[in-house]
Amino acid sequence: MAVRVGILGATGAVGQRLIQLLDPHPDFEIAALTASDSSAGKSYREAAKWRVDTPIPADVADMTVGATDPDDVPGDVDLLFSSLPSSVGAAVEPAFCEAGYVVSSNSSNARMADDVPLVIPEVNADHLDLLEVQRDDRGWDGALVKNPNCSTITFVPTLAALEQFGLERVHVATLQAVSGAGYDGVTSMEIIDNAIPHIGSEEEKLETESKKLLGDFDGAELAQHDVSVSASCNRIPTLDGHLENVWLETAETLSPVDAADALSSYSFDDVDLRSSPDPLIHVFEDLERPQPRLDRTLGDGMAISVGGLQESTFGLQYNCLAHNTIRGAAGASVLNGELLLENGYL
Ligand code: NAP
Repeated sequence: MAVRVGILGATGAVGQRLIQLLDPHPDFEIAALTASDSSAGKSYREAAKWRVDTPIPADVADMTVGATDPDDVPGDVDLLFSSLPSSVGAAVEPAFCEAGYVVSSNSSNARMADDVPLVIPEVNADHLDLLEVQRDDRGWDGALVKNPNCSTITFVPTLAALEQFGLERVHVATLQAVSGAGYDGVTSMEIIDNAIPHIGSEEEKLETESKKLLGDFDGAELAQHDVSVSASCNRIPTLDGHLENVWLETAETLSPVDAADALSSYSFDDVDLRSSPDPLIHVFEDLERPQPRLDRTLGDGMAISVGGLQESTFGLQYNCLAHNTIRGAAGASVLNGELLLENGYL
């Protein structure tokens, strides 16, 4: 029987992607939708300005949007996907966990908390067990698991694949799509014919979340990885798909050929989840790929693509790309939902 799920922030850019991915999902059934007070009480069709490239599922369009309040969500919903602004997430997600709901969240609040697992299943599925520490610490019947920032998700799997060569220093520069800022994030007057070389607090997220994701969990505490990461984040006028330029220094000499082998054969034996693509990392020989418009939908938007592997003054240089609202947000949360289900948390 499918698990009944709800979506917090269901009318936004990520919320709409969640609906697109969850509606046909055989393990999950959408049973509750919430948004802000201005949407609550309306039908979903009326509340959401639907912008995803498939029609609104008919049964979802007729659902009534509820308030984002634990008292407004049916008690038989087992799992909540959260795509709320982080300030709202910080205020309400703990209340949902306290009320017994398991929450798989995109929002950036609490990602770096010591007892909150920050998970990309193909990289650090074992960190999910941090939920036992969380439940002991906080006394929750529910639980809170996070997926990382959309730009962190794009380059960290490549680091995981290359970790065997000894990660020392990483420099990453991003070219991020406008959908990453949410529907009301960047106006056309700001971004057309332009690039914006600063995205508030984004750089810090890449620099800190990557070390947590690559860290070691011993069953009680998580030790962060000691790799140094330096990031520069830029907004460009693409719709979807974050492209990133990476310079990597490793302890062992790493040739582009060895890196291509390690990236394309990267395997994560313990994880076999429906939404995880095979292969996870697609390597292009063509130096001009990956490109957002051509490659963001590889693996149904869940693959990471890599190209431009070459030696640089600082070791290895390459480019990588992922779909920011699928692999970088909604798909990442759904994947964590599948991991929670497989590990008996629902
Ligand atoms: P968005 O398009 O602005 O959508 C925000 C959603 O939250 C809407 O459903 C909105 O409902 C609801 N909301 C706003 N204020 C609320 C309040 N006070 N109480 C309850 N609900 C409220 O944002 P988004 O791009 O989907 O991003 C959502 C979250 O995911 C953010 O934390 C963002 O940082 C994170 N994220 C986004 C991406 C991406 O690529 N876009 C990637 C990774 C992570 P109304 O329609 O009623 O206002």
